[in-house]
Amino acid sequence: MKPDLYQSPDYYQLDDLLTEEHKLIRDSARAWVKKEVSPIIEEYAQKAEFPKQLIPGLAEIGGFGPYIPAEYGGAGLDQISYGLIMQEIERGDSGVRSTSSVQSSLVMYPIWKYGNEEQRNKYLPKLATGEMIGCFGLTEPDFGSNPGGMVTNFKDMGDHYLLNGAKMWISNAPFADIAVVWAKNEEGRIHGLIVERGMAGFSTPETHNKWSLRASATGELIFDNVKVPKENLLPNKSGLGAPLGCLDSARYGIAWGAIGAAMDCYDTALRYSKERIQFDKPIGATQLQQKKLAEMITEITKAQLLTWRLGVLRNENRATSAQISMAKRNNVAMALDIAREARQMLGGMGITGEYSIMRHMMNLESVVTYEGTHDIHLLITGMDVTGFSAFK
Ligand SMILES: Cc1cc2nc3c(=O)[nH]c(=O)nc-3n(C[C@H](O)[C@H](O)[C@H](O)COP(=O)(O)OP(=O)(O)OC[C@H]3O[C@@H](n4cnc5c(N)ncnc54)[C@H](O)[C@@H]3O)c2cc1C
Repeated sequence: MKPDLYQSPDYYQLDDLLTEEHKLIRDSARAWVKKEVSPIIEEYAQKAEFPKQLIPGLAEIGGFGPYIPAEYGGAGLDQISYGLIMQEIERGDSGVRSTSSVQSSLVMYPIWKYGNEEQRNKYLPKLATGEMIGCFGLTEPDFGSNPGGMVTNFKDMGDHYLLNGAKMWISNAPFADIAVVWAKNEEGRIHGLIVERGMAGFSTPETHNKWSLRASATGELIFDNVKVPKENLLPNKSGLGAPLGCLDSARYGIAWGAIGAAMDCYDTALRYSKERIQFDKPIGATQLQQKKLAEMITEITKAQLLTWRLGVLRNENRATSAQISMAKRNNVAMALDIAREARQMLGGMGITGEYSIMRHMMNLESVVTYEGTHDIHLLITGMDVTGFSAFK
């Protein structure tokens, strides 16, 4: 892969909206990505392997639980800082950002919000340092967009719970130490359970042959009469709203992350357009390529503004799930469009691993699907503005 010459686009001087602390956090994440992620990520994506050596560095830049209070080992940062960290990590690779998002919003968040004090003290500090890695099991083979239909279930056996069922498409599953698993009790109520690697009957086979998020490990979670200690049930929230609350936090991070991927594609295409000569002039001097670049920077700027505003609302505890959904949908679609256009601007070179664009493009095909597909987010906005649910 070519040296990382990334220069972040900021067309509307949005840096003025950030505090000195925000900029410091963002710049250290950016420097870390340039030094540690860019030089190795193409190789790991090509061989379909998660680069585990990045885990301590991810913890150091605040990539694990940025907004979790310091008393539990988190960085205690605000929502804009969290977003900026996700933006920078995904500028490097969506797969690496996925590991960070899952750990922060889908594992640490539910333990912090829905767990008790013993669970928080037992797991959060180790998850914050990356000593322990977690995964989040919601999706099942027959229930993706409609997780409320899940069939994974647990029975109260007196001194323990007996867990049965299967989850699929689970990020980090193949090497995670713990899984936050959503399952129904005998009354059909959804609860979160912490399942630990090594529990008898629990296995995590890896999903192979992905063309997308190749540097992120994906797998299944199989529960065959797993005895789960009663103290591993998250006591403070149940029902579908519990996992959906985690998704709000993760989708917010994705909205920022997708901007990072888009900015990297734009920056790469802009530089290439100035250097690549065809018909005796740079391709960037042609009207068609300028149209592409002009549209890209416009869409990036709009997404930056939307997402910054969402961060302010989140800091004030005023952001709704529907607002988060809109930003996730808009920004991922924007990034995917930009990746596809940028790929074309590089001609044949665009399909090689010399440049990051094709990898971003393929990664974004998963990002547009997970945490609610583009269609599902359209339905969420549709329901929010009309008051009618079109899901069923
Ligand atoms: C790489 C990767 C990593 C993932 N990581 C995780 C993870 O860590 N944990 C986890 O729990 N899950 C994870 N997922 C699962 C992901 O969240 C699901 O794939 C997603 O929710 C969609 O579910 P599905 O694949 O079953 O598609 P389906 O729900 O079967 O949808 C298929 C198509 O039908 C459309 N559709 C569905 N319902 C409607 C409707 N009512 N109206 C109109 N159209 C509809 C969808 O938009 C989609 O286009 C991951 C997925 C991928 C690809």
